[in-house]
Amino acid sequence: MKYVVVSGGVISGIGKGVLASSTGLLLKTLGLRVTSIKIDPYMNIDAGTMSPLEHGECFVLNDGGEVDLDLGNYERYLNITLTRDHNITTGKVYSKVIEKERNGDYLGKTVQVVPHLTNAIQDWIERVARIPVDKSGQQPDVCIIELGGTVGDIESAPFVEALRQFQFRVGRDNFALIHVSLVPVIHGEQKTKPTQAAIKDLRSLGLTPDMIACRCSSTLDTATVEKIAMFCHVGPEQVLAVHDVNSTYHVPLLLREQKQMDFLTDRLKLKSLNLSSEMK
Ligand code: ADP
Repeated sequence: MKYVVVSGGVISGIGKGVLASSTGLLLKTLGLRVTSIKIDPYMNIDAGTMSPLEHGECFVLNDGGEVDLDLGNYERYLNITLTRDHNITTGKVYSKVIEKERNGDYLGKTVQVVPHLTNAIQDWIERVARIPVDKSGQQPDVCIIELGGTVGDIESAPFVEALRQFQFRVGRDNFALIHVSLVPVIHGEQKTKPTQAAIKDLRSLGLTPDMIACRCSSTLDTATVEKIAMFCHVGPEQVLAVHDVNSTYHVPLLLREQKQMDFLTDRLKLKSLNLSSEMK
């Protein structure tokens, strides 16, 4: 199983969901079976009790799960059917750990965020990633994990730490991270400083970006891409320019033009998977 984590920096609502769904769609065009998990670092058990004014409408899954709108994106882009367990919230994972504690499952140990909560998050991800989500009934090859919120927030800290540990649990060839960042245009100039700061925050928490997706109102200048590559310690081919488009269904095309799959195929050794005939 390969995991592609999509996280975000600078501001919320930056387009992580669209980037994650688009990446999943391109992986699917390679002949891979793709599933997805959305992590929402809020204390609510699910989106069912949240005001639509604050959070948008909640999305109802086939199993009745009331979840974040992004799960709807995943179902539409990837033509899959997800379950309530594909949406992990702080509320859900804490409930699970507290329930285990009440059962005495921790055998007298002091139950802590690290390692008990972070282990519960990793176990949850590994379990849910294997659930078949398409008509084939087979286990997926790749799981896209979208980490909601912004890296560096108190809320997402246990999930960031769990993912930091997870890259070692599953191994380098099975874990890639795409960080979505913002490039604001001030007086006509594309500014890279917020992205530099976001990547610094990410690295300080033990996560290394394999790709940096830059949201910008206009197409990114070559000089901007080169500057981000240099100051964020990645190659220019690892910087994805995602400008504002009229329809978010154009985002997969933008990623394809920039050869995102070439990089991920190499990075995750996707050719070693037993691919369906399309890729062979
Ligand atoms: P996040 O998951 O980071 O909260 P979303 O993926 O839900 O962000 O996107 C937030 C909003 O921005 C949505 O309304 C989405 O349609 C829009 N959006 C995302 N990417 C783009 C893009 N490249 N161009 C135009 N709008 C976009």
